[in-house]
Amino acid sequence: MKQVLGGRCVRCGREFSHIKGPGACPCGGMLDIVYDYSVIRRAASRETISGCRDYSMWRYRAFLPVGEDTLIPPLRVGWSPLYRSVRLARLTSIDRLYVKDDGLNPTGSLKDRASAMAVAKAQEAGASVICCASTGNAGSSLAGNAAAAGMDAVIFIPSRAPRGKVAQLKIFGAMVVMVEGSYEDAFRLSAEAIGRYGWYDRNAAVNPFMMEGKKTVSFEIAEQLGWQVPDWVAVSVGDGCTIAGVWKGFTDLFAAGLIDRLPRLVSVQAANCCPIHRALHTGGDVVACSEDTIADSIAVGVPRNPDKAIRAIRESNGITVEVEDGEILEAMSVLGRTQGVFAEPAGAAGLAGLMKAVRQGLVPKDASAVAIVTGNGLKDTVNAIRAAGEPMRVPPDFRLPDEWLFRP
Ligand SMILES: *Cc1c(COP(=O)(O)O)cnc(C)c1O
Ligand SMILES: [Zn+2]
Repeated sequence: MKQVLGGRCVRCGREFSHIKGPGACPCGGMLDIVYDYSVIRRAASRETISGCRDYSMWRYRAFLPVGEDTLIPPLRVGWSPLYRSVRLARLTSIDRLYVKDDGLNPTGSLKDRASAMAVAKAQEAGASVICCASTGNAGSSLAGNAAAAGMDAVIFIPSRAPRGKVAQLKIFGAMVVMVEGSYEDAFRLSAEAIGRYGWYDRNAAVNPFMMEGKKTVSFEIAEQLGWQVPDWVAVSVGDGCTIAGVWKGFTDLFAAGLIDRLPRLVSVQAANCCPIHRALHTGGDVVACSEDTIADSIAVGVPRNPDKAIRAIRESNGITVEVEDGEILEAMSVLGRTQGVFAEPAGAAGLAGLMKAVRQGLVPKDASAVAIVTGNGLKDTVNAIRAAGEPMRVPPDFRLPDEWLFRP
């Protein structure tokens, strides 16, 4: 892995020449993977990448912390579509609006990018069991990617997790520990179990490779836009690993000379659970919140990656937005009606935040923007019905009124 120089602590800056596996700096800070961009430049150009026929996140291998002989797990992760959303752009009065539908990943969320990386790195480390705590998607994606690679997964989830995600975990054969408590409780238990049993740790707060998987979403956005960079990229934030990965992707491309500018980030949290938004607005520390929102994937009262998320938002000269559950439901419905994209609540929250930022004048109307849809709506049909309503019910001998023929 000539392209990887080592790791650097986000908090104290200490450098590590060799990262053996998951783990943080002795100071408690998380590690960043540091690359030698001259090696990457020699290995990858716009042309070599565009000519690559591997339509998955692994087309960017030159930018990833894997070696020549790292086994790539079998599920096809990444290369999700980026749609130019003309009707949605008109409704939201943004000039150029794109939707990146990461809900189309194999287990239905952007988390597949991190979980595929976790499985690759765990195999490299000779592990056979991988573990994480999850609001639902990190777990279901790990379970699916581990199953495909013949590994075992142990998943700790809070009992509130939507049934669709629980069903995925069980179908993929994971050992599921449903914790009667919050995500915070599930996280603590998973850390204890990992410490005791020595399982491979996929928790993104501890494992610096997870962000390296997630960053591929930005590589794709840039490539799919012909190596043009949008003015804004909006994404929902729970632990903060996703937004940090989004930023890492763009800064990697910039450092390697594949793009010539950087986007500004729109960090979106739920109004009733927005510790990172609050910390940035008050300039103070991250304070624990309750986890009271329908957007279960971002109902994270104690974010596990706040340092990297806050740094990403600041460095990008980004903004943070909080959205009410009602605004998330509205975004789900608008996205479905105008674009045919079905998002779970946290998946539509990025768009909800972007729409709000435009209404508030924080994002100008003549901008170009990408909203990342991070998770698929089929995972949580209860909230989808809340967003879109119940269909009409009719008796079986019902006769259609003639005037319906002329209506949509
Ligand atoms: C995990 C997740 C997020 C947020 O990612 P973090 O890394 O926790 O900030 C957003 N949306 C969906 C659907 C997710 O599963
Ligand atoms: Zn440190």
